[in-house]
Amino acid sequence: MKRPLDSARAIVQEILADVEKRSNTAKLDVAALNDLQGQLRQIEDDVSAECLRGIPRKYISIIREKLGAEVIDALEPGKLGVVFRNRDRIEQVYIKIAILLERYQLAQKIAQNSLTEVDRLKFVQKEMAESQIANLQELELAEQGMRHIQWLVDIQLVPFEKAMSRILNFLNAKHIEVFLFDDDKLLTSNLNTDGNVFVYNQQKEESTEPPRAVGQATFQEVQETIYEVPLTVEGRQIGHCRILCTKTEDFDRDIWIKKVDFVAPVAARIIEANQNRLLAAKVYTDDLTQLYNKRKLTEQMGRLFKQFKTGRKKLFVAMIDIDKFKTLNDTYGHPVGDKVLKTVAQAIREGVPYAYRYGGEEFCAVFYGYEKQAVLDIMEDLRRNIQAVSFADQGIDQPITISVGIAEFEVSMNAVMDAIDQADKALYVSKEDGRNRCTYYDDIKDRYLADANRLRQKNLMLEDEIEQLRRKLVGAKD
Ligand code: GH3
Ligand code: MG
Ligand code: MG
Repeated sequence: MKRPLDSARAIVQEILADVEKRSNTAKLDVAALNDLQGQLRQIEDDVSAECLRGIPRKYISIIREKLGAEVIDALEPGKLGVVFRNRDRIEQVYIKIAILLERYQLAQKIAQNSLTEVDRLKFVQKEMAESQIANLQELELAEQGMRHIQWLVDIQLVPFEKAMSRILNFLNAKHIEVFLFDDDKLLTSNLNTDGNVFVYNQQKEESTEPPRAVGQATFQEVQETIYEVPLTVEGRQIGHCRILCTKTEDFDRDIWIKKVDFVAPVAARIIEANQNRLLAAKVYTDDLTQLYNKRKLTEQMGRLFKQFKTGRKKLFVAMIDIDKFKTLNDTYGHPVGDKVLKTVAQAIREGVPYAYRYGGEEFCAVFYGYEKQAVLDIMEDLRRNIQAVSFADQGIDQPITISVGIAEFEVSMNAVMDAIDQADKALYVSKEDGRNRCTYYDDIKDRYLADANRLRQKNLMLEDEIEQLRRKLVGAKD
């Protein structure tokens, strides 16, 4: 496909070749040279003066005629406006192209009239080359601008997560944190806000205070480059984003900031369009561990259970509970407890197909379409992996362990909770048997039922005793 600016580039090449050819056979004339220099300067002044109050139609027609309608299209403010923010810059491109074309016409006239004037033509050549280089750079920019426009259009058409990862790639950024402010919050640059935070490409770091609203772009360079930019849609600030970038050898701060400024308005629009979906995602995510929460488990399991009942795949659930976590909290403090929770959660996320934080230090894993042995192996590996994690950096010198209970769904079950209850019972047995182990419900069912029977019998006996005591009391009263 022919690129819009190829015709412009071709014309420039043609002029250079033409002038070069003629100048090889021409002779020197200093006076004429000076005269030409004056004329060329005059062209520049004239065109600039003519363009002072907007670009005259004449030039637009010349540009269209010589360079093609595509160039005019490319120079539309709406398009190039994304690259050159203000109209002045676009007008400068117009003026430069107009000067180039006027000089081109002059050069052609001179070339035709005085084939023998070497330096005159050499000068024309030099002059043309210089102005063309400048103009070509502008044209390159315009072309680049068009590629950027295409890119911007594209990222608005792809799904949200993809758009965000393209923005990440474009900026060569490590991660982007997006702070969306509540609608009813007044925004000033020194107001703390409890708006929502979303992070792309990295685990959210535990933050001790709410993010501070950013009203103006700020740039910091510490070990990493951090650029905070307000997100504004149609003049209304919806929040801000913090972009983190690890500096490489060839990192060019100015170019990088330009790139961020270039994508920020589009990012803002994409984020705003997806705000509801983002907030919905937050409802299903546990803030501390970034795992899905119990609400998500309940909803997903509801659907999965129906699918399981009508399909052929097996469904398993594992309940996971950190051992002696209360003691850990009491010994090392709640913040250390939180760090442990996060690390354990991450190990679970990486180890099982679906992971949820069930509550407190309890997690849940779901396996759909797995065989029993695979589930047992995965959970056993997870248990061992967690035991092997060192928490020495938190001052903890003994291993953290988990107890696990696993159960398989049966078609005869009426509710999701039936299997979760069984997994819970198996978990209880893991605890009773000394913790740091996995227990499969079927293996302890008999024992559990025997225990339950024993309890039931004991209960009946107690009820009997109570009844006898009651009778005695009534008898004593009479
Ligand atoms: P067991 O081995 O029997 O499970 O003992 P345990 O101490 O882990 O059991 P228990 O359920 O009594 O204790 C759970 C503790 O988890 C109590 C609570 O303070 C702590 N906990 C729950 N949620 C959080 C949390 O988000 N952060 C921290 N740091 N602790 C939590
Ligand atoms: Mg517990
Ligand atoms: Mg526990």
